[in-house]
Amino acid sequence: MSRFKQAMIRFFAGRYGVDSLYRFCFVLWLILAATNMFVGSKILYVLELLVMFWMFFRCFSKNIVKRSAENQKYLAIVGKIKDFFRLKRNKWRDRKTHSYRKCPSCHATLRFPKVKGEHDATCPRCKNPFHFKI
Ligand SMILES: [Zn+2]
Repeated sequence: MSRFKQAMIRFFAGRYGVDSLYRFCFVLWLILAATNMFVGSKILYVLELLVMFWMFFRCFSKNIVKRSAENQKYLAIVGKIKDFFRLKRNKWRDRKTHSYRKCPSCHATLRFPKVKGEHDATCPRCKNPFHFKI
């Protein structure tokens, strides 16, 4: 094995590497760089550099626990956004057959068949009985 190869292995061993947050930052950086090709703003340029610096800092960091926690926070935020749009899509898909209601005590979103009138239901999550109208 060459000295260069040994040095590279020593350098990369124990480094955090690439994750979802890294990929998000890369896309953000690409968008910033592409936008700045047309705009030519110094503020965008500084932002570009900051994003790039943060990407490399995270990638080569040896504090794997902290970088992993950052990634988990990012994934939780993305998950909430995805859930929001999934619910919107499902509500639209089921608009003729089902009605969505929130449990008054735990705020879980529940789906009911669209039958006109007054209804009594029990939340499957918190077992709270409630009354609603469709
Ligand atoms: Zn509930």
